[in-house]
Amino acid sequence: MKKVVSVLLCIAFLAGLCSCGGNNEYDTLELTAMNTVMKITVFKNSETDTKKLLDNMRDCIEKIDGLMDVNNPDSDISRVNDAAVGVAVAVDYHTAHILEKALAAYQYTDSLFDVKLLPVITLWGFDNGNYGVPKDADIADALESVGKASFEVSTVDNTVVKHTETQIALGGIAKGYLGDVLLQLAEDVNATALINLGGNIVLAGDKTDGTPWSVGIKNPVDTEGLACSFEGSGGLSVVTSGAYERCFQYGGKTYHHIIDPATGYPANSDLLSVSVIGEEGAVCDALSTALFVGGKEKAIEFTKEFDSYEFILITENNELFYTAGIKNIEVSDDTFTLKEIER
Ligand code: ADP
Ligand code: MG
Repeated sequence: MKKVVSVLLCIAFLAGLCSCGGNNEYDTLELTAMNTVMKITVFKNSETDTKKLLDNMRDCIEKIDGLMDVNNPDSDISRVNDAAVGVAVAVDYHTAHILEKALAAYQYTDSLFDVKLLPVITLWGFDNGNYGVPKDADIADALESVGKASFEVSTVDNTVVKHTETQIALGGIAKGYLGDVLLQLAEDVNATALINLGGNIVLAGDKTDGTPWSVGIKNPVDTEGLACSFEGSGGLSVVTSGAYERCFQYGGKTYHHIIDPATGYPANSDLLSVSVIGEEGAVCDALSTALFVGGKEKAIEFTKEFDSYEFILITENNELFYTAGIKNIEVSDDTFTLKEIER
């Protein structure tokens, strides 16, 4: 059954594209990493060596991408996946820290966000592009192994130990974490930068012309356009999860890449996209995936618990729910109705 599926709307899997550019006002870096196109714009000011910052950012992206890549047998995450139960695996600082954040997210999302889902993700082909609809029995087997999987991580000596057989995929949190690291690099040199990691947006500093950042959220129905826009400020990450990001079609049905850990199937969500805005991109990323899985009612409950984060939930009924801390939100497409979440 694999290989006969047709791949829809797939994001570009360009190999190693990297380019730098700029003009009098800014310099840019564009490259492909984590299976997506990333573009960073650093604005010139008297304090920032923009080219040096972009070089540091590129090194950092390539390093973290290399650590997390499940398709590279030498990556940190593959070494953990291949390790025997009970053996401490020495990993990079970043690998240990992202795993620690992933374990925390498993707790605070009531296990809707689970990096131990790799056996299920592999069955659907979302890790390696070998898309296909698995047999129910295979999903049940994979879910059983995910249910038993467990590991611990130490950020004191940067080691990971599997308690039981465990396979990890960090696709639901890696870009959010990377955004936090890049933001820190920019803030360390007081830079103003727009960091776009395949739709995950990070704003560093305030715009040099004094106007607020304007952030657009993709229209999940017509991904060429925007659903809404709002004003952002320096230090914020804006992370969106949607079924449209990666999917394939088989037998007239569309299957997307956000898995419901309870069923092992792509989440049957009444949400089309979830955007989370806040200071920690890794948390925004885990929450956006989890709330998408949870669906509208659960997602609205989560927005109340996470009151230092802001949320935009777009439903299949074209409602656009938002939390009040989002500045000057406007719909870009009249098909969406704005509804404020009370919290
Ligand atoms: P994107 O990677 O498009 O930004 P997400 O942040 O929502 O989207 O992450 C989706 C990716 O995370 C999937 O491709 C898969 O690797 C992994 N994943 C899928 N379902 C889950 C889940 N319930 N919990 C954690 N990770 C998941
Ligand atoms: Mg995510």
